Amino acid sequence: RSAEVKGVGVASFRLAPVSVRMKAGRGEQYDYLVVGAGFAGGVLAERLANGLGKRVLIVDKRDHVGGNTFDYLDEAGILVHKYGPHIFHTNSTEVVKYLSKFTQWREYEHRVLAEVDGKLLPIPINLDTINRMYGLELDAAGMQRFLAERTETATSIRTSEDICVSRIGRELYEKFFRNYTRKQWGLDPSELDASVAGRIPVRFDRDDRYFTDTFQAMPSLGYTKMFEKMLDSPRITVRTSTNYADVVKEHPGIKTIFTGPVDEFFDYRFGPLPYRSLEFRHETFDEEVRQPVGVVNYPNEHAYTRVTEFKYLTGQTAAKTSVVFEYPQAEGDPYYPIPRPENAALYARYKELADAEKNVHFVGRLATYKYYNMDQVVAQALVTFRKIREAEFPAVEI
Ligand code: FAD
Ligand code: UDP
Repeated sequence: RSAEVKGVGVASFRLAPVSVRMKAGRGEQYDYLVVGAGFAGGVLAERLANGLGKRVLIVDKRDHVGGNTFDYLDEAGILVHKYGPHIFHTNSTEVVKYLSKFTQWREYEHRVLAEVDGKLLPIPINLDTINRMYGLELDAAGMQRFLAERTETATSIRTSEDICVSRIGRELYEKFFRNYTRKQWGLDPSELDASVAGRIPVRFDRDDRYFTDTFQAMPSLGYTKMFEKMLDSPRITVRTSTNYADVVKEHPGIKTIFTGPVDEFFDYRFGPLPYRSLEFRHETFDEEVRQPVGVVNYPNEHAYTRVTEFKYLTGQTAAKTSVVFEYPQAEGDPYYPIPRPENAALYARYKELADAEKNVHFVGRLATYKYYNMDQVVAQALVTFRKIREAEFPAVEI
């Protein structure tokens, strides 16, 4: 079954199975081992192979490339993201220019509604959110006054609670942020860095886009196709379903890019770094459209935090529709580093060990314990590549 995906320069497509190439036999010599085939590993494998002519072995313990961005056609022929919605947005022209070598793009501006008091209201909170919630007709200045009467001034803004109550006041904080955050992180916002809820701005206009970055688009054929192109080089060997621990024995001392969890690399020497996990429940419905926008957030009701309907993201047309429900949990694959002071302190101890590993570069969301978006990981990988290139080819002083 192939389903139509409308996008830049694309009429319809069918995803081939993820290719697992084993061109090089065991015992083959490589210059670099890259652990993890997500954005961090994928970009570095590509750059080392095509930018420096290195022979690269890239492994991933999962049975596919793409890391958390992996997408595939489900049984109904709908392109879905296995590990939850991945919406690409960035202000970096360098990152766009780089990724555009491997994909065309379909413009997509993401919109999210939150179910609050039985209504579906725009999040980030904007003028319409306030007006619809309270039955008002405020303009921007009216909204400023409305919030000024409700916000609390804090001497310092350390936590996600602090940032919310200083921006929107306690009532809106409790309705839109407190319970969502408690579900998502298993912690109260007062126990999380301000940077977490600080990702979501407050708007005094009617802009209901989730992001305002200059570039917002999805890879036309999906992320997996983009990764397949990125890794398609005679100098790159991809081995999926392969764990670092098994492969490193075959290549002792090899220069390595490690993009898995940093605490795992060091055998949890200082104890495990906390990561938050999720369970993704995918479901297909026999109807064309399920919800009014790509994502609906459920701050208060239900055990899940949000529901994503993929057709909005991909532009696909089909008689059925597929969605994913996200259920946060403590155990399971590590998805989110948890930004709070004690975790940063524990990470700092691992970072010291990582910095001392001269043959290993630690890159990406898990290996540097940073709540990074995709574009930030790509940028970090490109910076790492430049450092490697400078170390291998030091500038000659004249
Ligand atoms: P990953 O993609 O996690 O890749 C690391 C890889 O290493 C994994 O495939 C793993 O299997 C492999 N690995 C780990 N340990 C080993 C080992 N020992 N041996 C072999 N392989 C190993 N970002 C956005 O910009 N926009 C979004 O909308 C967005 N939505 C998100 C939604 C969710 C639910 C999540 C969890 C993240 C989201 N992100 C989003 C963030 C995005 O997923 C990351 O920034 C990016 O994918 C991180 O890339 P990475 O290479 O660092 O890590
Ligand atoms: N958040 C919230 N309510 C919402 C949306 C976000 O409380 O409706 C908080 C929550 O703590 C969440 C954080 O803001 O984890 C960041 O949200 P974002 O949508 O950026 O999370 P991600 O897409 O990375 O899961």
